[in-house]
Amino acid sequence: MALDLNHIRNQFPILSTKVGKYPLVYFDNGATSQKPRVVIDAINRYYEQENANIHRGVHHLSQVSTDNYEKARRTIQEHLNAPHEHEIIFTKGTTDGINLIAESFGKLLTDGDEILITEMEHHSNIVPWQMLVERKGLTLRYIPMTNLGELDFSQLETLINEKTRLIAITHISNALGTINPIEDIIKKGHAVGAKVLIDAAQSLQHMRVDVQQLDCDFLVFSGHKVFGPTGVGILYGKEKLLNEMPPYQGGGDMIKTVSMSGTTYNELPHKFEAGTPNIIGGIGLGVAIEWLSGFNFEDIQQHETDLLEYATDALSKIDGIKIYGEAENKSSVISFLIEGTHPYDIGTLLNQQGIAVRTGHHCTQPIMEFFDIPGTIRASFSFYNTKEEIDQFIKALEKAIQMLR
Ligand SMILES: *Cc1c(COP(=O)(O)O)cnc(C)c1O
Repeated sequence: MALDLNHIRNQFPILSTKVGKYPLVYFDNGATSQKPRVVIDAINRYYEQENANIHRGVHHLSQVSTDNYEKARRTIQEHLNAPHEHEIIFTKGTTDGINLIAESFGKLLTDGDEILITEMEHHSNIVPWQMLVERKGLTLRYIPMTNLGELDFSQLETLINEKTRLIAITHISNALGTINPIEDIIKKGHAVGAKVLIDAAQSLQHMRVDVQQLDCDFLVFSGHKVFGPTGVGILYGKEKLLNEMPPYQGGGDMIKTVSMSGTTYNELPHKFEAGTPNIIGGIGLGVAIEWLSGFNFEDIQQHETDLLEYATDALSKIDGIKIYGEAENKSSVISFLIEGTHPYDIGTLLNQQGIAVRTGHHCTQPIMEFFDIPGTIRASFSFYNTKEEIDQFIKALEKAIQMLR
């Protein structure tokens, strides 16, 4: 059954707004997604009727808040098919989740241990490892990339070795759209005893991700890219590992007892959730995930593949265009440059016609370095986007090119 696009779009108030006199065409979903009415309503309702701190109060509102927050945790657990509720840790987002692992799991690593990432990671899956490696005398290795923007596995046998303790890899590249064969990497990592962390910041909004089927050890994502609020995200981790890891931050909620001579830590998930969390963020994310799981992901993927093919076809006809990221297995992201023009100028002229795209390095400078370019123009589609919007985008792009040439 095909998606009812009108019905879906009507659930997103922002999609019927205008930029100047032009209807908004929002193609910056790789940076953040828009929010459906159910999420916006949940946020309003919370502040109007349910606001209280959680896990502490005996009063009515505190119980309502706690129930809603913990219900969100279960919704997310079910969506990821995680075995246990307490394996779902609320964070501030993908970046925060990766830093948590680098800091906490990092404490378990010793001299000579290796961490393996890839050349196509987002900065938030590079810098925390560089910082850790510097602190601890570890080695950071990179799986290289090919001209198509796929990972180059020719050296994998040496890159994944008995010293490898952690492999941290993006499921889908935010700059190129490449869908990485993570099942394979997870298996290869486990074969040498390494743990594997999946950066799912770009995948959960496009496909079903089942942590038990993948058998990944950690998985992180951000709420704001999966139709939820900003400032909240999820770290899934296997119970045994999370129990072995020391706490990340100290404070309220993460403790069992505190005395002047010392502290005993709380159980999972609270051990990793110090302080008052982003309560409404968590509740809103639960609502977003519940909303998303009501869709058939095959329909979503079919529609997004249609959009990708339609846009790639139309773009390919433009004189002087170069598309970066031509992986065989690709999600609905197109990065490109137009010969003789600067991406920033194209982005600006598109914006003047109501089209929202991203220009720049997309927090993936090593990819730009690889292709020896300053950045790209990136159009990233969500399942609420349409072919009509792509037509508008192509028309606007042709006009922009005409003006610049
Ligand atoms: C957006 C993104 C991140 C960082 O997410 P934040 O929400 O900024 O913490 C990390 N990895 C990938 C692949 C991303 O797309």
